[in-house]
Amino acid sequence: MPNSWVQIDLEALAWNHRRIMSALRPGTQLLAVVKANAYGHGMLMIAHALWDLGVRWFGVASVAEGTELRAALPDAKILVLGCILEDEIHGIFEADLIPVVSSLPFATRLNDKAQRRGRKLPIHLKVDTGMGRLGLQVDVLDEFLTQLPRMPHLGVEGILSHFSSADQDDLTATHEQWQAFDAAVQKTREAGFPLRWVHVANSNAIFRFPQAHCTMVRAGLFLYGLYPTKDHPHDLELKPVLEWKSRVGLIKEFTPGQTVSYGRAHTIREATKIAVIPVGYADGYSRALSGRGKVLMRGEFAPVVGRITMDHIMVDVGHISSAKEGDDVTLIGAQGTRHIRAEDVADVLETITYEVVCAIGPRVERKAIR
Ligand SMILES: *Cc1c(COP(=O)(O)O)cnc(C)c1O
Repeated sequence: MPNSWVQIDLEALAWNHRRIMSALRPGTQLLAVVKANAYGHGMLMIAHALWDLGVRWFGVASVAEGTELRAALPDAKILVLGCILEDEIHGIFEADLIPVVSSLPFATRLNDKAQRRGRKLPIHLKVDTGMGRLGLQVDVLDEFLTQLPRMPHLGVEGILSHFSSADQDDLTATHEQWQAFDAAVQKTREAGFPLRWVHVANSNAIFRFPQAHCTMVRAGLFLYGLYPTKDHPHDLELKPVLEWKSRVGLIKEFTPGQTVSYGRAHTIREATKIAVIPVGYADGYSRALSGRGKVLMRGEFAPVVGRITMDHIMVDVGHISSAKEGDDVTLIGAQGTRHIRAEDVADVLETITYEVVCAIGPRVERKAIR
């Protein structure tokens, strides 16, 4: 048994996939975003399961992730959503990846390399409609489109943009981005590029901004059954796919005045029992949860006391009389009627759910359950 593991509920994944598909018009493609090890869930396991559910398009952050995915799914369409540097371009050809293009110099380099290989490379063109990250600024799109015909080794199959604020109550910015994107799509089509794949909607926009479904949507977070924050309405009947578990490694009696962990930040007030759990910040259990996190044991909450260390945390189990070594510990997930959601952990850390699950490290084994 590993010290801690992530348990993946493939039924929940299938459920969330159905929930998303039921929001789409027939024929709209779903691109499953599996970057960052499928948001910490385990990329290959998740991608295989989604492939079996009929998903054919996958989004990764880098050529390295795309290359790993290609070895597992020989027939998938793999779009690289993130930056690609010059020395990584060969990997696009070798792993048959589809790059997202955000600049003229990059397009030129891709065209040169495609020409040298005697290939026609499919690409998706990205426009920055207000995210302020990747993508061509809309005011240089015209210039780009006049240059594109000089790059005959690129096949512009798709166009995309990314919403900055589709999770906000106020959708004004999303409306503005949508209008700018729609104009860019028309302009690109008028320039003679038919654009089979037009996509802009992320998880939130799929449900909150359905006019932006176009011919493809890109879902990450909602496939995993997660909401961006604790306060975000949990109204989509999604099911969390991941539980993070460990086991009690050691239980010890402590008497008043004794202290727990580095810096002696926690002093025992009344006699109690402390359980040592073999998971720490090296696994992605943030050190900022020191004295603030909690876990579930025997269906009860138990507080994290003292500093979180690299490989261990300590929890006070004085109130759980039956606690013993080897007991199941839930860091994220449910036991009986109680649960700790990734959203709750994010709330304590004053961050978003994405960061909590992405942080779960490579040392944590991923195991599927049906
Ligand atoms: C990560 C990412 C997504 C997925 O966003 P979710 O909010 O997880 O659905 C979609 N598009 C791009 C470009 C991304 O980088």
